[in-house]
Amino acid sequence: MFTDKTPLCPKCNVINHVVLINTTQKVGTVVGGVAGAASGFVGAESFAVTGAVLGSFVPVVGTGLGAITGGLAGAIAGFFAGATIGNRVGQHIDTEVIGRYRCNKCGAEFEV
Ligand SMILES: [Zn+2]
Repeated sequence: MFTDKTPLCPKCNVINHVVLINTTQKVGTVVGGVAGAASGFVGAESFAVTGAVLGSFVPVVGTGLGAITGGLAGAIAGFFAGATIGNRVGQHIDTEVIGRYRCNKCGAEFEV
């Protein structure tokens, strides 16, 4: 992944093997995903209600299954939305705030 901001390795003086150390991006993806899933599950109330109503054609069992399915759908949608946002925020922090890079050729880690 090369960006305009990828620096030269201070030892090799080439850009080819330099990668951003994107720890925050990975953490952000997971945290965002979990947070998104949680809020998606809560926010899926309408899904759950719809599911429960549809499920109610098969009384009791269908109502419960419909509600669960609706909630899960919301949680999954929330997970992906949250993970995407967390990924972007994390990438921004890695790039703009931390700015640590590693050269995969010589193993040097450096900040810019
Ligand atoms: Zn190097």
